[in-house]
Amino acid sequence: MAIRNIGGEELEEQRLFMQRVRAVTHVWDHKPLAYTHSYGCQQNVSDSEKLDGMLEKMGFGFTDTPEKADLVLYNTCAVRENAENRVFGNVGALKVLKRRSPDMVIAVCGCMVQQEHIAERMKQRFPYVDLIFGTHVMHKFPELLYSIYEKRERVISIPECDGVVAEGIPVRRTSGFRASVPIMYGCNNYCTYCIVPKVRGRERSREPEAVISEVRELTEGGCKEILLLGQNVNSYGNGSEVSFPELLRRLDALEGDFVISFMTSHPKDCSHELIDVIVDSRHISHHLHLPVQSGSDRILKLMNRHYDTARYLELVDYARSRIEDIQLTTDIIVGFPGETYEDFTKTLDLMRRVKYDSAFTFIYSKRAGTKAAEMDDPISDEEKGRWFRELLDVQGAIGEKAYERYVGRTMRVLCEGRGRTDETLLTGKSRQNIIVDFAGSDDLIGKFVDIKITKALPWALVGKQCNS
Ligand code: SF4
Repeated sequence: MAIRNIGGEELEEQRLFMQRVRAVTHVWDHKPLAYTHSYGCQQNVSDSEKLDGMLEKMGFGFTDTPEKADLVLYNTCAVRENAENRVFGNVGALKVLKRRSPDMVIAVCGCMVQQEHIAERMKQRFPYVDLIFGTHVMHKFPELLYSIYEKRERVISIPECDGVVAEGIPVRRTSGFRASVPIMYGCNNYCTYCIVPKVRGRERSREPEAVISEVRELTEGGCKEILLLGQNVNSYGNGSEVSFPELLRRLDALEGDFVISFMTSHPKDCSHELIDVIVDSRHISHHLHLPVQSGSDRILKLMNRHYDTARYLELVDYARSRIEDIQLTTDIIVGFPGETYEDFTKTLDLMRRVKYDSAFTFIYSKRAGTKAAEMDDPISDEEKGRWFRELLDVQGAIGEKAYERYVGRTMRVLCEGRGRTDETLLTGKSRQNIIVDFAGSDDLIGKFVDIKITKALPWALVGKQCNS
């Protein structure tokens, strides 16, 4: 198997299928409506923007409820069992709608159904699902959908493949001032707990010119925040002339007023060069999300992470010494197979040493088809739950004070909208990617605003607009 570049001809073919679907729905007595929902990570959200972009070109409008939809599309995630159960529940709930509106098309795609056993379960348990397609044929969505309208038969397309890179797919972006831009797809790392390399294929990077021209187009069009995406952005380019730090350097040279952030950064490939590029940059966010996963070298080895805590801490110290106002965040897994309480306490020690601004913490979730799923896992769920709560307490105490160092500073904040918990306030993100709430009028949304920080909360900063 090999990685394939989906080029002009193949996409031209898909454009023809878009027109054909349009011709089908054109004769309906109403504009076709789609309800689409994306589970999981930012990469999935980004894929969904492309699926929505194709739907738009096929003449679809959008609704926020499945009840009103002619097409329901779930783009699924395989990283955790919880998310999978939610998908099964939500697909199950569509049975009643399908009975009421047999012409409604129900489609499920993405990482979850790329797993053979899940696709099989989906096929057997939900015969009313019309379309099931995997991660490597997303660009063929118009063709697959047309086939349903034409033949009125169930379509299942889940080819095994090392992966594809498809340029030129239409995108429907949900924000005028924020955009995510994938720079690479797939992963070569095979962390023993993770299913991503199996469902998303081998690492493949987009051409630097394609990324740069997309970012240029976005920023020239008024976009203020660009999120570069990849499972492991630090291995972008795979040894070619343009590494990730070099890509960032080139993007940073673009004119305009915008911030570039990125995720996810694997510690094994994170370099001093990357940190140096951030220091000297005009546009790059002062936020480093560096997933450590465990503070025990024994467990890191079992996880196949390819770094130890000494290497990790050296990187953290270097980043802190070079970027004084950096925000450091991480991911941690509790209860990995074979982890002892002693291993777990090493994670707590590391957290106390690094003092993360925030941490995304998870109890280990067994994924069929991974190496970790075969490992002995003698610790009970109750015990893991206790460890997890202990971890939350430790991070809670650190996080309580973490943002205090920003009080009294003036920070440049990109205003994103009204607050989620307090509608009377506006909310935005600083260059460190920290949430900042402040009072102001709606005309600030989508603009940079200078905010004097007056208060630190565990998850956000509060401030006052300068000269307001
Ligand atoms: S780096 Fe590891 S955890 Fe991240 S996607 Fe790749 S295999 Fe999964």
